[in-house]
Amino acid sequence: MTVFIETDLEGISGVSTIDMVANSDPRALERLMADTNAAVRGAFAGGADRVLVLDGHGGGRNFLPGLLDPRAVQVRDVALDGVDAVFLVGAHAMAGTQNAFLNHTQSSVSWHNYTINGRRYGESGQLAAFAGSRSIPFVMASGDFAACAECLSLFGRMETAPVKTADGRNRAHCLPDGEAEDLIFEAARRAIALIPEKRPFRVILPAEIAVEFNRTDYADAAMDRHPDAERLDPRTVRRVIREIREYGDLLI
Ligand SMILES: [Zn+2]
Repeated sequence: MTVFIETDLEGISGVSTIDMVANSDPRALERLMADTNAAVRGAFAGGADRVLVLDGHGGGRNFLPGLLDPRAVQVRDVALDGVDAVFLVGAHAMAGTQNAFLNHTQSSVSWHNYTINGRRYGESGQLAAFAGSRSIPFVMASGDFAACAECLSLFGRMETAPVKTADGRNRAHCLPDGEAEDLIFEAARRAIALIPEKRPFRVILPAEIAVEFNRTDYADAAMDRHPDAERLDPRTVRRVIREIREYGDLLI
């Protein structure tokens, strides 16, 4: 049983201010390793025999050297060959979610709304859809309460570890470190048992992928990047994809 864990930083336990994320605060990175290792331990305790981990925040390079559980294998991409289930550790909610710590989808500067087939999703939706396209279920998430609630509402039964609650967008109230790790360990351990019965999240194809940008020049640039794109309105660009071959197919 192989588990793929993608990490982000905004939903990590103990990360309570925007500065901690923006400045790669040492405590934030320490907690990133602690949350990630709790999920790795839980996956093995639940019966996984291989755990792959992707440092997924801002292009990677957040992991503190030598601190990842040595049983886990660090990978550089969302590579799901031979993977049986996907976890997301440190999740944040989609752009526009109230009382959700640092809520955004891909870019807090340029992306306003992201939809797949007309329904709004965030980054958890992109990961779930990519995994689902390979018949792999998304079974576990940790993050703030809003991120966990979003996963449950969009993907149905799964294991979540809400390690903090947000007060507005820029401040979070965190569980004590040990409690957060226990919650993540337990969710990860239980998630392994869910794998046989959890349905992968399958996007109906062909699919319409759309981004409403914050400004028209971001939409101009997206049109330049994608010759197949269409302009739905001055700020909104869509593509119709026939298959999901790579992660980038879900982006604009
Ligand atoms: Zn991030």
